[in-house]
Formats: sequence, structure tokens, C-alpha cells
Amino acid sequence: MNVVIAVIAGLAVTQVSVLCTTVYLHRGLAHRALTLREPAAFVCRFLLWITTGMRPREWVAVHRRHHASADTPADPHSPRVLGFWRVQLANAALYRRAARDRLTVRRYARDVPHDRLDRWFFDHSLVGLAIGIGILCVVLGWQTGLLAAGVHAVSYLMLSGAINAVGHRFGKRPYDNSATNVQALALATGGEGLHNNHHAAPTSARFALAAREIDPGWWVIRVLVRTRLVTLRHDDVKLKQVA
Ligand SMILES: [Zn+2]
Ligand SMILES: [Zn+2]
Repeated sequence: MNVVIAVIAGLAVTQVSVLCTTVYLHRGLAHRALTLREPAAFVCRFLLWITTGMRPREWVAVHRRHHASADTPADPHSPRVLGFWRVQLANAALYRRAARDRLTVRRYARDVPHDRLDRWFFDHSLVGLAIGIGILCVVLGWQTGLLAAGVHAVSYLMLSGAINAVGHRFGKRPYDNSATNVQALALATGGEGLHNNHHAAPTSARFALAAREIDPGWWVIRVLVRTRLVTLRHDDVKLKQVA
């Protein structure tokens, strides 16, 4: 077993998942800030299936409910309501509870189609994860592959937890909402750490709004725009009107 290779491979897989999550699930499906063309959309869907097992319509529903009720008792993962450590460490359980709520999915993700590919393949989370782990084991050897899968699982879960916990608790708040900006977290999460900016301008594909802010997800989007695999909803940043 090669521990160094396993850690590097696990963290690389996490970055692939994080970028697919932020570009496809979050900025694309949940907020319609951009539209991914085929084959890019299918590639993201497939990569998320084998690296996270998450179902896009459930992720979209849970996330839209979060925006609709941020930091109130109806928010599925508010650190102000549930406590920081519960959201940081048990984010996956909180996500699963909200995702299993049929009413949440029906209400918030009506526009995300549930097609034949979902019924045959993508709804079967464990099959996807088994394929992903199987690929790592074939490429790296079974021991290194299993360790890489473990490194990926822990780092993806901790980073997702941090976006919801740290991103609503610690950091800068240049705009008037309960989310925060943490640049270091943004570097590790494809830009998601610029969460205060995102709550202020949810339909903008770009999360970096000030001069020195860095949004790695936006770099990927720019490449996809140049190769005509992505179209943006609007080029400029539109701040949400606060009532
Ligand atoms: Zn938020
Ligand atoms: Zn969002």
C-alpha cells in the first residue's frame, strides 16, 4: 500500500467532486446561473454518481430550501439553529434527512427532470459508489484504492460540512446576509467559501465579487464558456434586492 499516493489520489477525487458540485449542481441546476451543454452535463452527472452517490434533484431541493429559509428553523443545516459542530460533523445526516423528505423534493426541485437514466443508474447511489471505489482499486491496487476512497469520503464530507457550518458562522460579511466569506475555504471548495457573496447574488455564476477574491469554480466555468459547453444566465453580477 502506498499511503502518499492514496492521499494524493483521494484529494484529487475530492476536487473533481467539489468542482462538479459547485459548477453543475449548485450554480447550474439549483440557481440556473449557467447551463451546461452535453456532453459536459452528462460527465458531471456521471462523476457525481461514482464519487458521491448524490441524486441531483435531491441536492437541488435541499439547497433551495436552505436559501429560502437560511438560518431559520426550516433551514436543513443552519449552524445558528443546530449548533456549529452538528452541522460541521453531521452534515451528511442532516442532508439525508432533508433529501428523504418527499415534500421538500416535490416543492423545490419540480424543474429538475427525473428521467430513465436516473431510474436505471443514477438513483442507485450504492452502485455508483461501488463503481467509483472499484475504479480506484483497479488503478491503484485494492489497498491503496480503498484508502484513497476513504481519504476522499472524509475530505468531501468535511468540506461540505464546512461550507454550511463555517460559511454561516465565521468570516467576513461584506453583504447584509447571514452567510460569510472565507477565502481559504473557497480555495479548497471550488469557490463555495465565498458564501456571503453567493447569498447576495445567487443567480451570478461568479462568486468572487471583490478585487482580491479567488473563485476556482469560475476559472473552470470560463474554460467551459470558451469551449461553448456553458452558457451564462447573465454576464454581470446581479445583487439580490433586500426587502
Ligand atoms: Zn448558505
Ligand atoms: Zn446557493
